[in-house]
Amino acid sequence: MNLDIERVLISQHQIARRVKELADQIVKDHSPPAMGIDAEITIVPILTGALVFCSDLIRQIPLHMQIGMLTVSSYPGTSIRTQGSQVISKQFGDLTGRHVLVLDDILDSGGTIRAVVPVLKEAGAASVKTCVLLRKDLPTARQTQADYVGFDIPDEFVVGYGLDFNNYYRNVPDIVTLKSHVITKSP
Ligand code: 5GP
Ligand code: MG
Repeated sequence: MNLDIERVLISQHQIARRVKELADQIVKDHSPPAMGIDAEITIVPILTGALVFCSDLIRQIPLHMQIGMLTVSSYPGTSIRTQGSQVISKQFGDLTGRHVLVLDDILDSGGTIRAVVPVLKEAGAASVKTCVLLRKDLPTARQTQADYVGFDIPDEFVVGYGLDFNNYYRNVPDIVTLKSHVITKSP
């Protein structure tokens, strides 16, 4: 696996530091007086990419919270460009009156966030905020709602820390690029 890595873009140590900063900001924004004393929050990671990010982030947020889940497919198989975002499954129960924070691994075309926010509002959420670990340097990404952003990165295909290529490399601890021969056979 490590032989396929071209370079480390963001190290696991940088990620850990930034995740803590994001968590501190989220706690501040979801505690009184910013929000009511009994504000109920639900964290909704978009699977599978946001799995690792979510598990690190929620353990730095000491608030009363529930977790929901949404599975969205946009980069199926060996694609390295979005093939359109489709909500495949929803497991978040009743969101009536709850403040939802959606987590995604990376903001690229923005199709995923744009597909997901209305679904959560229709499920009764009182508010929907979005948090992405990475945001690509693209006009479409900058124009999409992102209330919390971990890192702005160049428009390159990255894997690791939950992000995949053909469902591999999610377990790489850093955010990395892959050698071109690994991804050349892709559409
Ligand atoms: P969007 O819907 O904003 O175009 O893209 C969001 C989804 O596309 C992400 O959740 C992720 O699954 C996938 N994606 C976008 N860019 C990359 C990338 O550079 N690497 C990987 N592995 N997935 C990406
Ligand atoms: Mg994803």
